Amino acid sequence: MNYKQLSGYLISGAQIFSAVLLTMSCCLPGLFAQAGGYLLRPARVFDGHELHQDWEVWVAGSHIQAAGPGLKVPAGTAVVELPGLTLMPGMIEGHSHILLHPYNETPWNDQVLVESEAERVVRATLHLQRSLQAGITTLRDLGSEGAGYADVGIKQALEKGLITGPRLLVAGRAIVATGSYGPKGFAPHFQPPLGAQPADGHDGLIRVVREQIGHGVDFIKVYADYRWGPQGEARPTFSLEELQLIVQTAASSGRRVVAHAATAEGMRRATLAGVATIEHGDGGTPEVFALMAEKGVAYCPTLAASDAILQYRGWQKGRQPEPPRIQQKRASFRAALAAGVPIVFGGDVGVFPHGDNVRELELMVAYGMSPLAALRCATSGNAALLGLPDRGRIAPGLLADLIALEGDPTQQPSALRQVKWVMIGGEVVSE
Ligand SMILES: [Zn+2]
Repeated sequence: MNYKQLSGYLISGAQIFSAVLLTMSCCLPGLFAQAGGYLLRPARVFDGHELHQDWEVWVAGSHIQAAGPGLKVPAGTAVVELPGLTLMPGMIEGHSHILLHPYNETPWNDQVLVESEAERVVRATLHLQRSLQAGITTLRDLGSEGAGYADVGIKQALEKGLITGPRLLVAGRAIVATGSYGPKGFAPHFQPPLGAQPADGHDGLIRVVREQIGHGVDFIKVYADYRWGPQGEARPTFSLEELQLIVQTAASSGRRVVAHAATAEGMRRATLAGVATIEHGDGGTPEVFALMAEKGVAYCPTLAASDAILQYRGWQKGRQPEPPRIQQKRASFRAALAAGVPIVFGGDVGVFPHGDNVRELELMVAYGMSPLAALRCATSGNAALLGLPDRGRIAPGLLADLIALEGDPTQQPSALRQVKWVMIGGEVVSE
């Protein structure tokens, strides 16, 4: 897409462009805002819940001021025509790793052990740009995978306006049980840096949770299980008591805990411990999903990660039958839907290319969710489940994080790949 085409969507393009130049000093690089605000006139508006015809949206400053048919706005408001386009809230990515890139480019071990942190940060800034241009305006990042607190620093750089990208929620190093996480397979006398921070037991876990909070994480991520069974299969790591301790220590600071869990037992312990969301859940059973629904724990299935990894391993999608792991993923996703578990839109981006976030939503629909329900997950649903009441919908007083795209995404998820216009915090993304 070409954001330079933006002027094609403006009435009186020359006048407004000069207004833009006059007001650019207020803005972050790659962004510009009209001092008097914007009246946006798309063909349709999806407000985070429903589709509306003939709606307009008035933005002034960083927030939405009004939305509905026939708005009256002050003189000096720039009218932005978005003919044929659907205007909707920017999407909220629920599971990303901005410090990772696809494993078929560079294996995970080599990203953690060989790439410099400087290279990883440069890559991350490019990943953020791509995410924003793809219509992601908030991104929950689930661990720096060996890059320490680089995610916290990148978030600070974003907030200072040094780079552009989605708003970030970051996890920092994440917590793993000793002996469970990679990189693995080295001689015992050699201890390579791990992709997360190991900790165990009462005092160790309390200290590490507090340490990570002190370094600026927005939430705590814990691996409730990992692939450390006798045959390399996923098995639970932390005890229920350890997970409860992590949740209690984080909660004391006002932070939530997110659990990686692929086994039913890891999911059960994480749910009973009181985590906010469970990631992956491949081995989820109807019983454990019923427990999650009862306790209000949300499920982030990361369908796209499994889809990508199995293709990296040689599965020819569409030409060969679905591998058992994909069949299991379909079954667990359907079991979660049947149990009424709230679903987080989050694909484990980084395993597959940043900017291709919509792949997860397409798979949610392919595995049994309606396009409208999946679209709600990516907007108002994620806002509610991730504790972000100031975004994810088009309503007065909410952040003006908006995108416009061709087609009707309530009918066709592929429309989300046709993002033509992006606004974040009331500023239009120009490049
Ligand atoms: Zn992940």
